[in-house]
Amino acid sequence: MHCGLCLPTCPTYDATKVERNSPRGRIALMRAIADDQLAPTKTFGDEMYFCLGCLACMTACPAGVNYAELFEHARAEAEASGALRSPKRNFIRAFTLRWLFMDLRRLRAAGRLLRFYQCTDLQSFLRRTVLKLFPQRLRELEALTPDMQPKFSADLIAPVTPPAGPKRFRVALLTGCVQDLAFSDVNRDTAEVLARAGCEVVTPREQSCCGSLHAHNGEWELARELARRHLEQFPPDQFDAIITNAGGCGSHLKHFRKLLADDPVYRERAELWDRKVKDIHEWLVQVSGIRYQVSGDARGAKPPDTWHLTPDTLIVTYHESCHLCHGQKITAQPRELLRSIPGLKLVELPESSWCCGSAGVYNLTHPEMANELLARKLAHIRSTGASVVATANPGCLVQLIQGAKQEGLNLRVVHPITLLAEAGRKKSLQR
Ligand code: SF4
Ligand code: SF4
Repeated sequence: MHCGLCLPTCPTYDATKVERNSPRGRIALMRAIADDQLAPTKTFGDEMYFCLGCLACMTACPAGVNYAELFEHARAEAEASGALRSPKRNFIRAFTLRWLFMDLRRLRAAGRLLRFYQCTDLQSFLRRTVLKLFPQRLRELEALTPDMQPKFSADLIAPVTPPAGPKRFRVALLTGCVQDLAFSDVNRDTAEVLARAGCEVVTPREQSCCGSLHAHNGEWELARELARRHLEQFPPDQFDAIITNAGGCGSHLKHFRKLLADDPVYRERAELWDRKVKDIHEWLVQVSGIRYQVSGDARGAKPPDTWHLTPDTLIVTYHESCHLCHGQKITAQPRELLRSIPGLKLVELPESSWCCGSAGVYNLTHPEMANELLARKLAHIRSTGASVVATANPGCLVQLIQGAKQEGLNLRVVHPITLLAEAGRKKSLQR
């Protein structure tokens, strides 16, 4: 099918109106390469990396084309061809994908160094002096670095958190990589909310990156290695659920079966794993019995008529992480959880499922396009009049925090689970 229904949902096509920059155009290129009519040239590789991987086209496609798989294979093909190689690119990929993100101890050490840089006068001194001499791109990169947390997840969460009441479930909590460094407080809030829902929460101190960064950047073997590590670190038969609070990671974590389909040792375990991995919103709604609409219709749902705004009412809007809504089809649950918070009014965000430009490392590799998308997103957020925007992915959180800072907005950017945890604490104090 070449219906083109995906075209209006594609941010890169929307920006350029060039067929090659659309899902249909990209699939045609992939097809031509698969049929040996085209070689995987640098132009092909660049096109695959110009794609955000937002998967909005998958939601729109009436034929059920699995763009996520096509896109990952295409990037792997581009990498294998060597067409994109350059000394600088090779070094960056070797340092980040093959070294830094393969061992979280290294990443945490880097996080501590970064924290030292951010919290001493060093950052402001270098910004005033040496950094001014650096190329603009490098200065932009420095400004995009998220603030590191003073403590990482292992310092904030006990290896086993007991349930707040009778034990209903035993779950494992995945603390992630960037999430662990920049949003360990969200991981702590997640453990707290799970405990309130009757879960015993197992949070191993030593964890690994989920491998989505590797799979999305054509490093399948490394992604497989990390998947196997997860199956060893979190034996799926020992938990009722394995919980993730990062939309991008969840979308990858739910597909280990395909990744390890040819592995006789791990194949079966991967199947069980895929069934046990749950996004935190999905799991909480499932176990708490909050009523929600299963379809995406909830996106346009109106808040209850009974709303009476008081000076204390918190106006919140919700930005959907691409991989939570398009990758995992989780749209209604975060909204229902937010609506369940007393004193909170949820205002729908126009184009809530349109990419904010973060898209993994897209804001680093394609800053112009990423900034265009960010400006569009911030304009919509401003139009809602909300003082808080909730979003459930570390990349989106970083992107929106930076955007709000640059535009001088008085806007709190927060994970929905943090709002839920804060409401729970308030309730406990009132008892
Ligand atoms: S993943 Fe996003 S950017 Fe890429 S083709 Fe699909 S809609 Fe366009
Ligand atoms: S990917 Fe789906 S929506 Fe897009 S042109 Fe092909 S069939 Fe149509």
